[in-house]
Amino acid sequence: MAELRAVPGLADDLDVTLSRRDRRGDPVGYVRRSTTGALLPYNPRAAHVAETLVNTLSSWAHLVAERRGLDVDADRTAAGMARWLAAHRDDVRQCEDAAAMFDEITYATGIARRCVDAPAERAYAGPCDECGADLYARLESLDVRCVRCATVYNVNDRRKWLLDAAMDMWLTPAQMARALPGLISRPLTTAMIQGYVRRGRVESRVDTDGHRRVSVRAIVELLQIVTPEHHF
Ligand SMILES: [Zn+2]
Repeated sequence: MAELRAVPGLADDLDVTLSRRDRRGDPVGYVRRSTTGALLPYNPRAAHVAETLVNTLSSWAHLVAERRGLDVDADRTAAGMARWLAAHRDDVRQCEDAAAMFDEITYATGIARRCVDAPAERAYAGPCDECGADLYARLESLDVRCVRCATVYNVNDRRKWLLDAAMDMWLTPAQMARALPGLISRPLTTAMIQGYVRRGRVESRVDTDGHRRVSVRAIVELLQIVTPEHHF
């Protein structure tokens, strides 16, 4: 039941992650608002996680309601469904599926927590020329700003460090198609990466959030790209 009590707070945090900015203040992606055409920050992963949380809670609430002859008189939101389940805890306990239900809810709140807490993927981009502070760049952005002196660098100029730092990362094909072409100076599309995965030519894995990620090192080696140590 502790997990159910945590749901409203988690749902709020997901909402923040989803519709505004992550904790570092960076938008993860953008969606165009249909009425005004304005670009709004949007985190598709948070949207997917939020949907999983609502669906999990809602389907269990409706199963309990059906078994016990009740109505689910609550908003179809994560918080609404969690409150309904908590208010009917005795009915929940009477269900033979109660253990499976708690497993599934714990899983859904677990991925929600990781989504809210996950720091943005950043890579070391070398020391600042002006003040010597270490620079960390989002792989998918074009600029990196020094946190100490605010000098802005072009990510492309920093690609030796970035590719070095990215080698041990695992990225989704979409992330990789945005981040790598600038670093390796050659085209690489999502479709190409998915083709390599399908044909078993690069190592990939499915993470607990359900996304398939591919090893940057495997792609770099497959394409026989000269690594920064040799190239610069
Ligand atoms: Zn600096």
